[in-house]
Amino acid sequence: MIVVKTKEEIELMREAALVVSKTLGELAKAIKPGVTSLELDKIAEECIRDQGAIPGFLGLYDFPNTLCMSPNSQVVHGIPNDKPLIEGDIISIDCGAIKNEFYGDHAYTFAIGEIDSETKKLLQVTKESLYVGIREFKLGNRVGDVGYAIQKYCEAHGYGVVRELVGHGLGRKMHEDPEMPNYGKRGRGKKFVEGMVVAIEPMINLGTQRIKQHRDGWTITTLDNKPSAHFEHDVAIVDGKPELLSTFAYIYEALGIDSNEEDEFRQQALVL
Ligand code: MG
Ligand code: MG
Repeated sequence: MIVVKTKEEIELMREAALVVSKTLGELAKAIKPGVTSLELDKIAEECIRDQGAIPGFLGLYDFPNTLCMSPNSQVVHGIPNDKPLIEGDIISIDCGAIKNEFYGDHAYTFAIGEIDSETKKLLQVTKESLYVGIREFKLGNRVGDVGYAIQKYCEAHGYGVVRELVGHGLGRKMHEDPEMPNYGKRGRGKKFVEGMVVAIEPMINLGTQRIKQHRDGWTITTLDNKPSAHFEHDVAIVDGKPELLSTFAYIYEALGIDSNEEDEFRQQALVL
């Protein structure tokens, strides 16, 4: 069952999404060679609680930490540890928070220092595919339109689109209907309606689309051990159009990146 949100609820959800966005911005400042994912996890928990919010993943389905930290060939759901990150690594950070009784859920793949050009391209294309998908999340379209657009964009670059893990509806629950696969057929699946809020989150592999799960019961890795990227935004349908609730602006501010990629998905100016 799809739980549509009122305009007031969407504004409450925007606050939850911005808690996570701000947290990822704090992490962007701290990410450098030598830092461990456990240290970053601590920073994130503090930052979330300082904003009067609650870590959304901690304890959810018994997950042990605040962040899912998935370096290099890990796709998602990696558990923070005390191994230092090194120059040339990438790390996908997925962060959730509860504010106003609603979840924010937001992910970004960071480069640690200089990374090889092949991986850099994977990160760029995966992030682009997120916006390609968001563009299709509008009144009258269906779930399959978003998945089709993401799949087509990524496969044109020869990348593997993970099938087993998908985006999802978002609200008072972390995972609501509908499931939002990153693959699909045009015009298929549930129809989008005003007030829907979803997390769109392409998980894209440099090589094979196939994945494996580790014995820890959480970590997902590419089957060929090649790198994987993950970018996630929270998006609502407002006045028939996709409206971004989360933002990468805090990350870009921290990293000194100039970007207007989110502008077309915002009906009101972003106040940081
Ligand atoms: Mg997430
Ligand atoms: Mg999600």
